[in-house]
Amino acid sequence: MKKNKIIVIGGGYAGLRTIEKLAKNPQNDIMLLDKNPYHFMQTEVYDLIANEEDFAQVSVDLFTFCMGFDENVVFYKQDVTNIDFINKKVITDVNRFSYDYLVLAVGSRTKFMSNVKGLREYAHGIKALHRAMYFKQKFEMSLFKRVDESGTSCNALNIVIAGGGLSGVEIAAQMASFSLDFYSNNNFICRKLNIVLINSGEHILKGIDKKLVQKSDERLKKLEITIKNNRKVVEVKQNSVKLSCGEVLQMDFMIFAGGVEPNHLIYALKVDKNEKGYVVSNEFLEIPEHKGTFVIGDCTTIYDSNDEIVAPTADTAEQMAELCAKNIDRLINNKPLIEHKIKSRGVLIALGRGYAVSKIFGMYFSGYIAFIMKKAVERLYAKKLDMQSHKGCKKIFKD
Ligand SMILES: Cc1cc2nc3c(=O)[nH]c(=O)nc-3n(C[C@H](O)[C@H](O)[C@H](O)COP(=O)(O)OP(=O)(O)OC[C@H]3O[C@@H](n4cnc5c(N)ncnc54)[C@H](O)[C@@H]3O)c2cc1C
Repeated sequence: MKKNKIIVIGGGYAGLRTIEKLAKNPQNDIMLLDKNPYHFMQTEVYDLIANEEDFAQVSVDLFTFCMGFDENVVFYKQDVTNIDFINKKVITDVNRFSYDYLVLAVGSRTKFMSNVKGLREYAHGIKALHRAMYFKQKFEMSLFKRVDESGTSCNALNIVIAGGGLSGVEIAAQMASFSLDFYSNNNFICRKLNIVLINSGEHILKGIDKKLVQKSDERLKKLEITIKNNRKVVEVKQNSVKLSCGEVLQMDFMIFAGGVEPNHLIYALKVDKNEKGYVVSNEFLEIPEHKGTFVIGDCTTIYDSNDEIVAPTADTAEQMAELCAKNIDRLINNKPLIEHKIKSRGVLIALGRGYAVSKIFGMYFSGYIAFIMKKAVERLYAKKLDMQSHKGCKKIFKD
């Protein structure tokens, strides 16, 4: 019997969930392609930066993850550079692979605006593991430097975070919380820390429930974070950041979490895209002009029944993946495709050690209980992937 050749591009939240579902059918021959050899759990990057977790805890090896399935999933670490939709071929930096069905799940990347002088040069992104790792080490070294210098000087550690969305807010809160604990638990005498959050809108967390915004705002202030709303970064130098209001802030380092854009593969593809450059998908999550090719996760934009954009999150990426796997199965079995009815199931925002705010299925939680919920979601997700990868590892190292 002919096997169904399925290629999944991108081993992120969307790609891995699609594979988990499709691998159940032994007739599916699945290939995962990713430019990195690991899955990066971006939702936990705030813990990585603040030294609560190491890089092994926020990543999963894609070789062993795929080995853990019953022989019908393979992984190749290759960067996909283009797709020949007519001849059904995926083109990578080293190879060409043919497919019957294709899943495009390549996420997005940090957008370093070219009109902001010095942004790419001096600010750190956190959407890629190597960048987050670099920043984590810089942060720890800066704390150490202050401790090392105490007795002779006590200069403030100035951190600027640009972007008042979910990632900027979580990182600011976690760094503040970590540093305050670090100074007090270790009884260090020099404790000056300035964390400034720059936000271009009227308030932080645009598009998120008002009550959660208010609670988050209060919490950030309690953590002594300065929030500067209605301002944009216009220029970055090695040790300073200039804002649209003319103010110049001193900084030891800066994180940029102020925007995302489609990545190089999406730019290269000749398919319909929206005004932000993301691939247009139909109600079945297919690329309309190429039947059997699905686009899911952060590299497309979907709308709910009120025609509002569904926020691009790990939660929606996974929901899309589940429907995509179902629809591939239905195409294989000549059944009509299912339309998506995807909407956000909830928001969980980590705001430092032992504190989070959340709205799950319409109910609000805050404080330690919300924190435990957030941790439970993250741990459950990681545990499932770890078990799969452990299975693969045991096949390689039999003894
Ligand atoms: C700091 C931060 C905090 C966040 N917190 C939350 C949260 O609390 N809750 C939540 O739901 N969401 C959160 N998100 C959003 C969430 O991480 C994304 O929505 C999610 O990662 C999207 O999943 P994805 O599979 O579409 O893309 P990704 O997870 O980004 O995966 C894309 C994959 O494609 C691979 N790839 C890209 N280009 C190529 C190519 N050309 N060839 C081969 N492989 C390629 C990449 O290496 C990557 O593995 C957060 C994001 C950030 C940055």
